[in-house]
Amino acid sequence: MITSSSKVVVLGHASVGKSSLVLRFCKGQFFEYQEPTVGAAFLTKSIPFGNEEAKMEIWDTAGQERYHSLARMYYRGAYAAVIVYDITNKESFIKAKEWAKELHQQIPEEINIVLVGNKSDLESLRTVSFDEASDYAKSSGYIFLETSAKTGENVDDVFFSLAEKLPKT
Ligand code: GDP
Ligand code: MG
Repeated sequence: MITSSSKVVVLGHASVGKSSLVLRFCKGQFFEYQEPTVGAAFLTKSIPFGNEEAKMEIWDTAGQERYHSLARMYYRGAYAAVIVYDITNKESFIKAKEWAKELHQQIPEEINIVLVGNKSDLESLRTVSFDEASDYAKSSGYIFLETSAKTGENVDDVFFSLAEKLPKT
């Protein structure tokens, strides 16, 4: 068995559901009222793949502008970034693209990026189309998934898709 610990950072606009995704994945919980994150916090989760096991350290950051410089501390040294937007909030999609751009500018080495359109349960309120986000992700070389932290849809896939890319120690 190979056990490695690797850092994944979760980025995105405020209230898109970053904390909810991390909590759903790590603890199987969801809260209609999720406390806004202050600064950043991390949870760990062991992920089995094949006969191996990887320990993922998932850093949940605060989306507010005043914490932006703090986020920088967390994505340095991360092997992967999960960039989240809310499918009912166009501005959060624009913000997601800015985060991606910033990562490329600030991190010299390759970083695995998963673009996540969260709140897929709110289909009737959707303002960001699946195709628009999917085309953008494809042309940028990112994995793309739509998720719901509320129902759990596709949430595991976000993190499992990164397990196979974990750096082996
Ligand atoms: P963060 O600021 O990005 O960490 O967002 P939070 O995880 O704090 O979530 C913000 C709000 O959106 C909370 O009220 C959550 O309950 C809600 N929320 C998060 N994910 C979903 C989802 O998939 N569907 C729905 N309907 N609400 C969600
Ligand atoms: Mg949060």
